[in-house]
Amino acid sequence: LHLDQPLAPGQLLAPDRDQANYLFAVMRLAPGDRILAFNGRDGEWVAEVTQASKRGGALIVVEQTRPVQLPPDLWLLFAPIKKARTDFIVEKATEMGAARILPVQTDFTNSERLRQDRLQAHALEAAEQCGGTYVPEVADLQPLSKLLASWDPSRRILWCDEARVGSVHSLKGLERGPWAILIGPEGGFSPAEQAKLAALPFVTPVSLGPRILRADTAAVAALSLWQAELGD
Ligand code: SAM
Repeated sequence: LHLDQPLAPGQLLAPDRDQANYLFAVMRLAPGDRILAFNGRDGEWVAEVTQASKRGGALIVVEQTRPVQLPPDLWLLFAPIKKARTDFIVEKATEMGAARILPVQTDFTNSERLRQDRLQAHALEAAEQCGGTYVPEVADLQPLSKLLASWDPSRRILWCDEARVGSVHSLKGLERGPWAILIGPEGGFSPAEQAKLAALPFVTPVSLGPRILRADTAAVAALSLWQAELGD
């Protein structure tokens, strides 16, 4: 059960209407029954039903089963593409342990609107499915130029650039420290964006190999290569 409430011993939990319906009407949980609860921040906990009726019920947090598993300090910046592929990127980035997911609008990005709540729900589902106790935050869509203008340079950006054809990959020898991976849209970055990225001191261009990958494939490849070099 995912709840947006703090989890600590003795904490009372009040499931929302849909959750209460599922727990008490569908699953027919009764006082004394136990379930696992998590909120994406405090790890996984056992919670025991204290009251149950068809109209609702309550639980109390008993004990922790797993501490929160923090992901590496890695962010993913990507230009949203078609809906299903954007969902795929959010899901895979969550599984691969990205700590924050930031959709960015670029010169060649097609989607101007993005349902942040839907993507956040995807991240939650992906975290639940892979037994993760941490749910990455999915930010609202924002222009890449605005994000770069206020960027904290202590977090370096790994700019995945298909024009840097090099060895199989060139993530070897990257410095440790916080990083953000940047993936462009299907049409790539515009010449103006490329010039700007190339001039920024906190941006490191990398190749993911000699073939041009689709943006969703590139996101998974970059996350895997980063994990292999610097992840845990
Ligand atoms: N500009 C290209 C074109 O239209 O021919 C294609 C862009 S590619 C489909 C989408 C994004 O994936 C790129 O902006 C880049 O961030 C990433 N990407 C794809 N293949 C890559 C590679 N071999 N190395 C680095 N990044 C790659």
